[in-house]
Amino acid sequence: MHYIQAKSLLSAKNGINIYRGCTHGCIYCDSRSTVYQMDNVFEDVAVKENAAELLDAALSRKKKRCMIGFGSMSDPYIPLERELKLTRRCLEIISARRFGVSLITKSDLLLRDLDILSEIHEKAKTVVSVTLTTADDSLCRKIEPHAPPVSRRAEMLSALHDAGIPAIVWLCPILPWINDTEENLLQLLEICKSTRVCGVICFGFGLTLREENREYFYQQLDREFPGLSEKYRQVFGSSYGCASPDSDRLLGILRGFCKKEGISSDTQKLFTFMNTLGEEDTGLQTTLL
Ligand code: SF4
Repeated sequence: MHYIQAKSLLSAKNGINIYRGCTHGCIYCDSRSTVYQMDNVFEDVAVKENAAELLDAALSRKKKRCMIGFGSMSDPYIPLERELKLTRRCLEIISARRFGVSLITKSDLLLRDLDILSEIHEKAKTVVSVTLTTADDSLCRKIEPHAPPVSRRAEMLSALHDAGIPAIVWLCPILPWINDTEENLLQLLEICKSTRVCGVICFGFGLTLREENREYFYQQLDREFPGLSEKYRQVFGSSYGCASPDSDRLLGILRGFCKKEGISSDTQKLFTFMNTLGEEDTGLQTTLL
């Protein structure tokens, strides 16, 4: 890793990325794509040393409180965060200024900050999104090699529920011929049910590939799933969207399960819930919990 002094932190949509790059090693990672013009080696994480100061200054200029989003390009709880505590410092600022927070992560390191996340939820709102792709820890080690296994993520979801913090599961990406099975989907949905998450976001069963993340993905397929990259090349060529051949059927199963169990799968409603604070809140908070 290396430190950088950032010029700004908060995006136009109130998102922040303290870390540029990520060490979870997900084989499908879109953030590697050249379109993002990341100027560092992806695993050599650039750490925005002045993140907390920039955030404090940006929030002090805001006329209206809002939700601050973490994790669109890099997980805010990569292992480096254990020592650096920059995500935590930013959460403390958000709490002090009574803003809300919406984070997406694969790491149960987030539970270290349960105290401050609960404090923010009392004053404004906290929403935690957790990505799940496979219910099988050994498959998880192949496709997300350095991220905490799904069993630990499930424990994190339970702990969030016990703390009264709403959690949303992102079921994506689903990789054709790897985790696009009904058995995997049902096991993941059972985790959502037993941990009482308030919503499931799924954009369809498949993944996206573009320059740089495609090459990396195929290299990792050759290492972990010999022969499969050839099949991807034949079926998808250089397409951006790579849908599972079973996508429609799996989506039907997901929608049916969520409806029966009272779990929201309305992506638009869930995004509004994650991104809205105060009067414009959808009022879903109580019904979702
Ligand atoms: S956690 Fe997200 S940013 Fe990090 S490697 Fe995985 S997909 Fe990429």
